[in-house]
Amino acid sequence: MALTTVKEIIGEMKNPSSEDIALIEKAYEFSKKAHENKMRYSGEPYFIHPAATAKILAEYGMDATTIVAGLLHDAVEDGCTTREEIEKEFGKEVLFIVDGVTKLGKHKYRGAERHAESLRRLLVATASDIRVLIVKLADRKHNVQTLEYVSEPKRRRIALETLEIYAPIADRLGMGRMKRNLEDSSFPFVDPDAARHTAEMLKLKTKETEDGLAKVQKELKRELAKKDLVTFRTDIRMKGLWSLHQKLKRKHDDITLIHDIAALRIIVPEIEDCYTTLGVVHAMYRPLPGEFKDYIAFPKPNGYQSLHTTVVTPEAGIVEIQIRTEEMHRRAQFGIASHMSYKQLGKGIEKLGKDVQKNRFSSLSFSWVRSLIPSLMKVSGKENGTKDPVKVPLWLAELAEAHAEVAGSEEFVEGLREDFFSHRVFVFTPIGDVVDLPAASTPIDFAYAIHSDLGNHIQGAKVNGKLVSFDTQLNNGEVVEIIRRDAAHPSSKWLEIARTSLARRHIRAALGMSEPARLQKKKKKPLKIKS
Ligand code: MN
Repeated sequence: MALTTVKEIIGEMKNPSSEDIALIEKAYEFSKKAHENKMRYSGEPYFIHPAATAKILAEYGMDATTIVAGLLHDAVEDGCTTREEIEKEFGKEVLFIVDGVTKLGKHKYRGAERHAESLRRLLVATASDIRVLIVKLADRKHNVQTLEYVSEPKRRRIALETLEIYAPIADRLGMGRMKRNLEDSSFPFVDPDAARHTAEMLKLKTKETEDGLAKVQKELKRELAKKDLVTFRTDIRMKGLWSLHQKLKRKHDDITLIHDIAALRIIVPEIEDCYTTLGVVHAMYRPLPGEFKDYIAFPKPNGYQSLHTTVVTPEAGIVEIQIRTEEMHRRAQFGIASHMSYKQLGKGIEKLGKDVQKNRFSSLSFSWVRSLIPSLMKVSGKENGTKDPVKVPLWLAELAEAHAEVAGSEEFVEGLREDFFSHRVFVFTPIGDVVDLPAASTPIDFAYAIHSDLGNHIQGAKVNGKLVSFDTQLNNGEVVEIIRRDAAHPSSKWLEIARTSLARRHIRAALGMSEPARLQKKKKKPLKIKS
């Protein structure tokens, strides 16, 4: 892989100022020096990696500060510079992002699917600034492109982590292009046979559709011109490998049941044009019933907007048609990053607020990100060492506010209230699995969350390697280890300590106590009591 030049990075930026250019040139040279003599697994100079990461960030329209952070993201961990030096040369903001990316790198996914959602949430929660998350995604994008050089077990772990953790995060931030890229680069390393099989199917189908679609495009152009629609463009998108594989599994490997392998995109100037175009398309080709979706009026939770319809064409068979505006198209590819193309996050958010109004985003937009907010309150309160419980990372708070103001719906308030009762704390097992517990949970809750047998035989507990008492409240990011002994048994005191109903139920059972009447009512069968 060739080294990305500083010219290429700057070339991807839209109207960079002379200060921006000078700053990026300085960071480029600084990083090159910090990584001097270091090699990647491929045997190439290490500096290739941060330079490529910076270019990806520039492609995604990120600002100079973020691009600089991309250039420097490994300079402390893998290079020979210090945090102090980065702060001195590039300021607090850059150091803050670099620190954040380093912190995210410490959480590793080891393939326990039940923990995947927890880890995704943890990563988003730990990223105290959305730019941290975006640099991490760019870093990962380049890493999976060069996976072939990494040794076997590590390669698989990284590919799986990318599929299960990072691609879904990209998806939920609306970064469609990033998601697809991460998936399709990792898939061959997770399941080589399936990837090969899917690629062959896709290739066959591509050949078959391309000529047909070219004819459809021509006809469309003529018909749309009759409605005075001339300033539009079309492109053909083939379904991604991983997403085709997922769909094939759902359709029992019958490719004829999948209608969106090839899609024709029509990109028009205004929202009204979308509906005009839809009318023209349906007049030309018979639509399949039940396949029409109006994601403009009802956007997907990640903010995605488009009209989707599936029609039967004489030239190309069954084809999905996606109709959207330029703005929707940009957002579908870059997602949350497309709101960040401005100097400050504040401005981006302001703009987001307006977009939301303009495009009738539903109050559901970004609901997943929003749903993280209560658990974040916990995170930041603890991290700052302050007692202030309602401190969330600014980017999330503002995102939520932007939506609340526009939506202002009861649904939003209701959702937030519900979330208030589910503050979570994320801790780790000694092998790095994430366990997601209610706030104020103790080692006893942790043990029962792992297994009732472990809970019933707790001899002692360690947090971050130090012995602690059973009533110690767990904090985010701590590593918890339970020392098990056959002779150890629950005591009634544990009932006062345990926070989760799961733990309390097991403790009561182990003590030979019956359930409180309130709980018994709910149960259909009487509770079996362990002897
Ligand atoms: Mn890196």
